[in-house]
Amino acid sequence: MTKDGGKQDKKAAQYGVTPQSTDFNDWYNEVVKKADLADNSPVAGAMVVRPYGSALWENIVRWLDDRFKATGHESLVFPTLIPMGFITKEADHVEGFAPELFTVSKIGTEELSEPYVMRPTSETIIGHMWSGWLNSYRDLPFLHYQWGSVFRAELRTKAFLRTSEFFWHEGHTAHANEPEARAEVRQMLDLYHEFCRDVLALPVVRGEKTASERFAGAVATYSIEGMMRDGKALQSGTSHYLGQNFSKAFDVKFQTREQKEEYAHTTSWAISSRIIGAIIMTHGDDFGLIMPPRIAPIQVVIIPVGRKDNFDQMVDEGEKLAAELRGLGLKVKVDKRDGVTNGFKYNDWELKGVPVRIELGPRDLEQGVVVVKNRNRDEKETLARADAVGGMTARLDEIHDWLYGRATEFLLTRTLVADSYDEFKDAIETGHWVRAYHCADAACEKSIKDDTKATTRNVPLDDAEFFHEHGEGPCVKCGQPGAYGKRVIFGRQY
Ligand SMILES: [Zn+2]
Repeated sequence: MTKDGGKQDKKAAQYGVTPQSTDFNDWYNEVVKKADLADNSPVAGAMVVRPYGSALWENIVRWLDDRFKATGHESLVFPTLIPMGFITKEADHVEGFAPELFTVSKIGTEELSEPYVMRPTSETIIGHMWSGWLNSYRDLPFLHYQWGSVFRAELRTKAFLRTSEFFWHEGHTAHANEPEARAEVRQMLDLYHEFCRDVLALPVVRGEKTASERFAGAVATYSIEGMMRDGKALQSGTSHYLGQNFSKAFDVKFQTREQKEEYAHTTSWAISSRIIGAIIMTHGDDFGLIMPPRIAPIQVVIIPVGRKDNFDQMVDEGEKLAAELRGLGLKVKVDKRDGVTNGFKYNDWELKGVPVRIELGPRDLEQGVVVVKNRNRDEKETLARADAVGGMTARLDEIHDWLYGRATEFLLTRTLVADSYDEFKDAIETGHWVRAYHCADAACEKSIKDDTKATTRNVPLDDAEFFHEHGEGPCVKCGQPGAYGKRVIFGRQY
């Protein structure tokens, strides 16, 4: 029971969302469904994104797409099917993806001599095309990306987090030399970090993956890692330096200024629809979602609170107020549903996580006031109508800061330092991330995973906001010298 004498428990029970502390998994599934974000589909492993979830994804796409273009990237469109022979050309790549591939072996009634795969990612076919487009150093860099969906078979699925088909952009770039390619990798990682921090209110740790967690075929993989409210990690975006691995496999070469032949250095980077899972599981509470205001499909919902004889008038007043707020560039919805109680509407919009609710009643209107409630607070405020409008942008910023602050505090308190394996196991068992020294031996890393289900998340970069301190110490598992010059982050992950 909560400290307000069970009011919150009762409210949650009334709407039927399992509290997070009772069962986080049930909470997640119920929120996804009841907030109309997504539904199961008749296709095994695939989800249907409903309009509210799709509106959220569109906002994500729009922000990122603007920034890709602003940083000089160009979009293109590739086919969904890739010849099977392409996938097998890069040895690590095929080994990494083989178990997850969907294969198309028949078209109509004709068996194909060479099957196609549904793309799990597009490095191979893009490399193949680049080899025809690239001649001279003058053609570089190629700064490309595409939006689309990819296919990776999943046995146990979970909306947004693990589905056999998911949505993303994949960036692919080719450069004349390693420093330029590495600068691109870093630029995109930082762009993702900025997006998470400034738009989604998600604190994330920028770092490099250990060798065993690298993308199949990459020389180096960088990630941003976020902590969910059950203490698990969610890899929220990745940026890979692929060296010349794919350009050698696909003959992506060019004439240098000195008339020599050289293979291009390539990168790839992505954020997928998993990021919606991160938003849900970082910001949600026992009443449902809390949408970060700068990405929310609806930032302000107006509830006309009238009786039968004046409901229509209140709806009109609501529309007037909405028009003023829309004039400030805000996304506003007026809930005009008739025959539904106000209490039901309040719960419904709280579940959907709309950051601000305005209640508009006849008596308030006469007095020139409105009732305002922030999603993250219990109490309502009565404000002069003009102040409610004028202060709305600042109010949304405040909610953003509150969300970021709460999530940051959670991240910091749920991350522990361990110098012995007993401490390590206790911390993982109790739902923490652990910072520990590690020897970088893949077998040692695997034995930790087998023991505890915890994997290395990343090794924070020197300018990561969190956990980047340098240090030396023996491996937390085997006692060999630490290999990274800092503590590695471990955690269970989605
Ligand atoms: Zn070790």
